[in-house]
Amino acid sequence: MKKADIVIIGGSAAGIPAAITCRRHYPDKKVILIRKEKQVQIPCGIPYIYGTVHTPEKNMIPDDVITKNGIELLIDDVMNINREKKNVVTENGDTIYYDKLILSTGSLPFDLPVRGLDKENVYKIKKDSVYLNGLLEKINIAKDIVILGGGFIGVEFADEFKKNRDINVTIVELLPHCLMLAFEEEFCLEAERVLEERGIKVLTGVKLEEVLGDKKVNGVKLSDGREIKADILIAAIGVKPNIELAKNAGLKVDSGGIIVDSSMMTSDENIFACGDCTSKRSFFTNKPSGLKLASIATMEARIAGANLYNKKRENQGVVGVFSTVIGNKAFAIAGLSEKPAKENGYDVVVGQAESPNRHPTGMPGMTKMKVKLVFNKMTGEIIGGQVRGGDSAGELINTISACIQKRMTADDIATFQLGTHPAVTASPIAYQLVNAAEIALTKVR
Ligand SMILES: Cc1cc2nc3c(=O)[nH]c(=O)nc-3n(C[C@H](O)[C@H](O)[C@H](O)COP(=O)(O)OP(=O)(O)OC[C@H]3O[C@@H](n4cnc5c(N)ncnc54)[C@H](O)[C@@H]3O)c2cc1C
Repeated sequence: MKKADIVIIGGSAAGIPAAITCRRHYPDKKVILIRKEKQVQIPCGIPYIYGTVHTPEKNMIPDDVITKNGIELLIDDVMNINREKKNVVTENGDTIYYDKLILSTGSLPFDLPVRGLDKENVYKIKKDSVYLNGLLEKINIAKDIVILGGGFIGVEFADEFKKNRDINVTIVELLPHCLMLAFEEEFCLEAERVLEERGIKVLTGVKLEEVLGDKKVNGVKLSDGREIKADILIAAIGVKPNIELAKNAGLKVDSGGIIVDSSMMTSDENIFACGDCTSKRSFFTNKPSGLKLASIATMEARIAGANLYNKKRENQGVVGVFSTVIGNKAFAIAGLSEKPAKENGYDVVVGQAESPNRHPTGMPGMTKMKVKLVFNKMTGEIIGGQVRGGDSAGELINTISACIQKRMTADDIATFQLGTHPAVTASPIAYQLVNAAEIALTKVR
């Protein structure tokens, strides 16, 4: 039997910052974090095991971020939550009493109802070191790999598999383009061009019909009748929330996950939840959002951890910000692109600017950076942005996300004070963010 003021279940992108936030806001409280795995993979780093960092061991979250913050770490699987007695029971037979509980049990790979997906050499994206190591061994001897799903995870795997390997990689995507759930067509087309330059075959607008082979996969059959050879099939088709524990404890859930209010409190006032296991709402429409990202998980964790004893923070909903890289081109998005904005009833105006990300252009590392911004025509407020270019796209999109969250107008962005330097940014005259806002303004004046 153990006792803590705060017990956290889950030790990944949500559980760790939740625990650290608890310690920062409530330094007198004893915090225990329970997680299943001995060591945790950096979830977003998983594709990079296969071409850049080379082994799952080099993609771990170090445990000292937990222990050096005065958090007790327990490796165990929580089997049951008893809300009346305020305790959790683990697989090893421990009973741990809590005053406040945070659930950050994450997500599991989504299961597609397709014949043959249980065959040998069909891999889902599990955040499990042994499983990922097994995949690495198979990839190193494979000749033909098919990736199901051309979202950002599918394209990152494809790009990594091609690094230093002479293998055939094919992406099969149901939508008309890769990355299309998030990006506008012009960005998707550019991404597909880079994939093809990297020698990756992209098949879009087709569905997986059947996985071929006896015990082991040897190919896939597509909805247009085509058959493609495959030693390995990777299903990169999304995740479902891991909510069995919460459901069995009688907490309210829906298809998106555990239902929480804007303070991240569940239907039990002593239990909070954060990360992929929670149901989410859009920042723009307050409608349910299917987005599950590490950046959302950490934001929710910092809200949940701070609010346990005193409501200090509020979740305003999911903006949806992320980046990906194919070859040496980065693609990044925040908020709504033009089409979903219009589908959600916005009258929009867009501004676009492209220029070198260094000045003069002869500076090392120069690449062209394109920024497209979407504004609400009625209010002038920014509601979305997309960036294509070099590494700095990742930070530029975060600036755009801050502009969205603070509801800045095109005028605010056109006149905001920015810092530039020849070696690290675009020129102040050609700064893409500001110019895209100016161009949008010319369309409303
Ligand atoms: C390949 C890949 C790439 C990605 N890339 C990005 C990216 O670039 N950017 C981005 O923002 N997001 C990315 N994501 C999404 C991101 O990984 C998830 O949003 C994030 O992992 C969610 O964190 P989480 O802590 O909520 O859940 P998880 O990472 O799923 O962690 C859940 C934790 O709970 C533990 N747990 C569950 N049940 C129990 C139990 N009963 N007892 C004890 N422990 C339990 C698990 O063991 C685990 O430690 C990527 C995801 C994948 C799969």
